[in-house]
Amino acid sequence: MSSEFSIIDHYFSRESKTHDRHLTLGIGDDAALINPPQGYELAISVDTLISGHHFPENTSASDIGYKSLVVNLSDMAAMGATPRWVTLSISLPEDDPKWLSDFSTQFFAVADQFGVALIGGDTVKGPLAITVQIIGTVKSGLALKRSDAKAGDLIVISGSLGDAGAGLKIALQQKHAVSEQEQALIDRLNRPAPRVELGQQLLSLASSAIDISDGLVSDLGHILKCSGVGARIDAKRLPLSDALASYCSEADAQQLALSAGDDYELCFTLPPENQSMLEQISKTCGIALTTIGEITAEDGLMIENNLNPLHAQSGFDHFRDVES
Ligand code: ADP
Ligand code: MG
Repeated sequence: MSSEFSIIDHYFSRESKTHDRHLTLGIGDDAALINPPQGYELAISVDTLISGHHFPENTSASDIGYKSLVVNLSDMAAMGATPRWVTLSISLPEDDPKWLSDFSTQFFAVADQFGVALIGGDTVKGPLAITVQIIGTVKSGLALKRSDAKAGDLIVISGSLGDAGAGLKIALQQKHAVSEQEQALIDRLNRPAPRVELGQQLLSLASSAIDISDGLVSDLGHILKCSGVGARIDAKRLPLSDALASYCSEADAQQLALSAGDDYELCFTLPPENQSMLEQISKTCGIALTTIGEITAEDGLMIENNLNPLHAQSGFDHFRDVES
């Protein structure tokens, strides 16, 4: 393996394209230095992607470069924070110039798209694993947390659910040829869109938010637990894409939308008096926003019109499902 330093120099040290007065020192010293803007809090999050666990082993370097940054951008979206800086720790089995070039090119393409600067990291030899830490800013006191949902709030989902779960099934089959619809589902797995702008639009409007990385039932469950409330959702109202509807039965699509992860859509709760803002926010962000139910004072998650009541129940034993 060529030296760690030549890899860093060649693939990861890059002059920042824009001047950032809050970044006092970037890559090249023992630590980067940030001078946080006044009146803002820093939102900090980290995610590790391990080959074979978080993405199939046959995933391309460029898809890994994309997703390792996007899953972190999605965490910023869920807080309503503006992503600003990232560090990248990369464990690589071998010095593969094509892999490194594809990975870093895509990583920087996403970084540029969202105005994020790479300010440091670590480069080691080992099993393929990527850790990205992200730092964002959000006006003090305004961040969207999981803990403030109230009974009567609407539960709203961005985009559509279940596509990435179907994409994973297809990707694992390692087919030689896939249909256009199947490719669309695989793309949702490998190229999820982080809802950064939406998160920022929801500041001061939504009462809580989370990004759906583990599946709706699980992630909405975090909001319910942190807020000490329950919820009633209607499975018939779950937003499903045409690609998913044509790939599997309605019951299977519902099941994927309820419990498959990796869609990176936002699930947020909205006080009913802010409902009239939804249409404008949806237009501004160019993303469908679908109300699927509401927060209830009594505990538990009630899923109406659930076509797989027994199946959906397994694994989430502190929630209950009822058939309507
Ligand atoms: P140290 O020995 O102090 O941990 P390193 O030799 O690991 O420093 O890294 C040298 C510099 O390069 C540091 O500023 C570090 O943040 C940066 N760096 C290392 N790996 C990466 C990477 N994959 N991406 C971006 N910056 C990196
Ligand atoms: Mg180091």
